[in-house]
Amino acid sequence: MPQYNLFVLPGDGIGPEVMAEIEKIAAWLSREGIVHFEIEKGLVGGAAYDAHGTAISDADMGRANAADAVLLAAVGGPKWNGVPYEVRPEAGLLRLRKDMNLFANLRPAICYPALADASSLKRELVDGLDLMIVRELTGGVYFGEPKQIIDLGNGQKRGIDTQVYDTYEIERIGRIAFELARQRRNKVTSSEKRNVMKSGVLWHEVITSLHAREYPDVELEHQLADALGMQLVRRPKQFDVIVTDNLFGDMLSDVAAMLTGSLGMLPSASLGEKSAASETRKALYEPVHGSAPDIAGKGIANPIAMIGSFSMALRYSFNLGELADRIEKAISDVLEKGLRTADISGGATTILSTSQMGDAILAELQVVA
Ligand code: NAD
Repeated sequence: MPQYNLFVLPGDGIGPEVMAEIEKIAAWLSREGIVHFEIEKGLVGGAAYDAHGTAISDADMGRANAADAVLLAAVGGPKWNGVPYEVRPEAGLLRLRKDMNLFANLRPAICYPALADASSLKRELVDGLDLMIVRELTGGVYFGEPKQIIDLGNGQKRGIDTQVYDTYEIERIGRIAFELARQRRNKVTSSEKRNVMKSGVLWHEVITSLHAREYPDVELEHQLADALGMQLVRRPKQFDVIVTDNLFGDMLSDVAAMLTGSLGMLPSASLGEKSAASETRKALYEPVHGSAPDIAGKGIANPIAMIGSFSMALRYSFNLGELADRIEKAISDVLEKGLRTADISGGATTILSTSQMGDAILAELQVVA
């Protein structure tokens, strides 16, 4: 049976509650002889601050870098509102992304038919939606220099951010998108604002040339980011893989998220470079949602985003795509049966706890052989 190291960071709030469901599934996979995960646990966010006075310790950062994949639940909460800025819970996430050089953020937006009525759009527009936003995560206007506020001395100030992309940054995120498309419906939509931005002109040029050189078998289209925003809410099912920069990706992935209903349903992956020694990439998998302090400790959080993140790890870090398909089918079947946690209840009469939902998915997984 294959064996991998999984570094697990439950974090704060509902984090440990939803992560517990992953440990159940991992234990079952091992018992069944399918795959064994050697799970090591660390601290991140407020939990790490309480233990070490920092948002993630150097030792845990080292473990994250050495693991085959990192699984994180969520960080933050009102308890840590007053801690110094450099050690606030989110600083743990930022350090993980930076030190692991995670330049690609993958956010699937999947609308399970059973939940289509929870979307803000009409059922027929979102029923069966399955798209993937690939956002560049370490470059662009969030990091470009100069980045400052200058005092102009006449009662005026000037705020400056710099949008900057080099060829290699666009090529490496482009490759992720084209390779993902080959495993999906073979279509990439690249998005920028080349009509008003030089970085957009370069983005368009680099993606077009990468496509012609290395991925002519994949369908490529370009859409300006504002038009794409409109199309996302007009006819979202036209998209397969969308690749875009850090700023546009930040906004468009949140728009896409809302097409699917609840925050408790949304997984994500952040990927880095392939290591020289192997074909595997540094990778961090985490739900999109936060630590939900309003429901923490009640055992009612939805574990599906966390389980979906684990499923992405199986697919993208461990080459276990078929197993990931099984987990996603188990989630879909559980929803079809009308089983719901409180956040997606939609009037359902029986509401499951976090652990009951985990058990229901595990039970379904044993059926979906
Ligand atoms: P949130 O995602 O934690 O919660 C927003 C709303 O969605 C809440 O009502 C919450 O109860 C609900 N919700 C979220 N996940 C759920 C789940 N799995 N099941 C059921 N309901 C769920 O966002 P927030 O309230 O803005 O932030 C709370 C804390 O989380 C803050 O400290 C924030 O900084 C932090 N945060 C962390 C991350 C992260 O770890 N990646 C992301 C966003 C926010």
